[in-house]
Amino acid sequence: MTRPWKIAIVGFGKIACEQHRPAIADSPDFQLAAIISSSAHAVDVPVFRTLEDAFASGLALDAVALCTPPQVRQEVCDLATARGLAVLLEKPPAATVAQAQALAAMGSSRGVTVFAGWHSRFAPFVEEARTWCAAHDGLHGRIEWHEDHLKWHPGQAWLWQLGGLGVLDPGINSLSILTVIRPGAWHLSGAAFEQPENADTPRAARFSLGRNGDHVDVSFRFAENTSETWSIQLRAENGDVLHLADGGAALSLNGGAFRRKANAEYAGVYRRFAELMRSGQCDVDTAALCLTEEAFRTAEITLVEPVTI
Ligand code: NAP
Repeated sequence: MTRPWKIAIVGFGKIACEQHRPAIADSPDFQLAAIISSSAHAVDVPVFRTLEDAFASGLALDAVALCTPPQVRQEVCDLATARGLAVLLEKPPAATVAQAQALAAMGSSRGVTVFAGWHSRFAPFVEEARTWCAAHDGLHGRIEWHEDHLKWHPGQAWLWQLGGLGVLDPGINSLSILTVIRPGAWHLSGAAFEQPENADTPRAARFSLGRNGDHVDVSFRFAENTSETWSIQLRAENGDVLHLADGGAALSLNGGAFRRKANAEYAGVYRRFAELMRSGQCDVDTAALCLTEEAFRTAEITLVEPVTI
């Protein structure tokens, strides 16, 4: 394979348009060669309804970025890896941990890269937070991930269907950060969901996470027209405090002023994807998905008024 690698985006919705397409355009490693979509039009690359149609056209591809909802990735990943194409999976990599492991196995058994791209792990202050956590013991804190679903997930029926995760779809980003800055065996307890009567997934979720002397209370909430927050606050047993805000784009230590950096999460996702392709490796971490799956398995559910999709 010669660079730039030819990549196709599969599923041309919100995240594909707003993040993947520009990140690929700016990447020295990839060139957008096609879009696989039932609805895309007026784009400057060929559009095919299915990946089979793209193959039938004779188009040569090195990779695909799966930007569909997590419930529908199995078949495309199978088809792509069988042809030797590397696969980038948007987060969450699949609807269940077992499915994610099956996608990883498709890559490793065929010797091609499958990468679960947890984009929040590439936020600017995640690495500094990881270093801070490694230097501190006995962390106690709070995650608050509250956002307006009408703004970020307009018309997305899949989000409210089984496997779509509801409020845990954005919330899982915080867990992807926590499990990389504080790796280890987190266990979940006390899950409680508020679930709209017309949905299979919650619009609010609370639970606690524990790990070897650490304790974190988690609150995820979809709220319309209210202030949004994507925050992880941790206090160590020696009194030091870390506050990661704006999803990892801002950091305050010990109550000091926030430092902020421009976010370039998807540039990081594509850099890592290229590294994995160069070294022929897979990277499908399911730590965050294991926690959301446990929340779904154990949550006490309170039904609430229907959601507007
Ligand atoms: P979206 O706007 O609904 O786009 C998903 C696209 O997937 C659709 O436009 C459609 O593309 C295709 N698709 C294939 N099968 C589908 C089905 N059964 N139902 C609906 N769409 C189907 O969703 P999105 O926000 O881009 O999210 C896609 C993935 O990115 C999710 O895993 C999500 O967690 C992740 N993500 C989303 C955000 C965000 O802020 N929205 C941020 C980061 C990550 P075509 O019409 O082209 O066929």
